[in-house]
Amino acid sequence: MYDGVLRLPMPANVHVTGFADDVAITIVAKTIAEVEDMANTAYFMPPRYGLKTPSYMSGVARTHRLCATRISCAFRTISEEAALVMADLVLVQELVREAAEVLDQSRREARRPAREGSISRWQERWDSSTSGCWTHALITVLSPWLERRHGQVDFYLTQIQSGHGCFRSYLKKYGHDTSDGCPSCGSGIEEDARHVLFECVRFVEDRAALESGTGVSTSPSTLVQTMLRGQMERDATAKFTASVMRKLRIAERERRGLDT
Ligand SMILES: [Zn+2]
Repeated sequence: MYDGVLRLPMPANVHVTGFADDVAITIVAKTIAEVEDMANTAYFMPPRYGLKTPSYMSGVARTHRLCATRISCAFRTISEEAALVMADLVLVQELVREAAEVLDQSRREARRPAREGSISRWQERWDSSTSGCWTHALITVLSPWLERRHGQVDFYLTQIQSGHGCFRSYLKKYGHDTSDGCPSCGSGIEEDARHVLFECVRFVEDRAALESGTGVSTSPSTLVQTMLRGQMERDATAKFTASVMRKLRIAERERRGLDT
């Protein structure tokens, strides 16, 4: 197994050592930035040169998707498209291409345009995707989301942004409930993430507290935009989503006759 790895063409001053089931990379450089550049290039060499082996690349892509699910604290049912967006993980194929571009040009300045190209292609793929549509409605433009400085997603924010959580529409879809109707808003009203966040009468006070704190009327087009404005807005949004999702969780457990 090591032969293929040890024979990979590495940048100058990068050396690969295999021992037992581990591989170590030794780098000699003058600055931390150079070490980081060379480490990233070396890290993506195996997938770059393994592109001609479909099983290898599909294995890497599966691991990448699993990482996205874990990072975003998402349910396993979430689509790959939505998981990657919420975890800020660029497609592995793009990462491989970036590594190749940076290596071929042999300069650090190549990294930024390479990443911008990846995000541009990611945006096109995101806009045309037939999965993750609810997440796309909330996070339509990727760049501001990926460049945000104010906090990461958590378990509750991810449920809200993915639509995969204690919503009766989701529970019914996966066989955990017999009805997808909202218990408070009358028959024919589906309890999904959109209804819970922006319409349901049960959460009027939570919604009012969020709008009072941020000064912004809550809607699908403003929720994430507001959250990206600053730490206060992010924390207010996280508090709102946590309060709503905890109440839904309690309601679900009561329906199932479980301790709350
Ligand atoms: Zn309702």
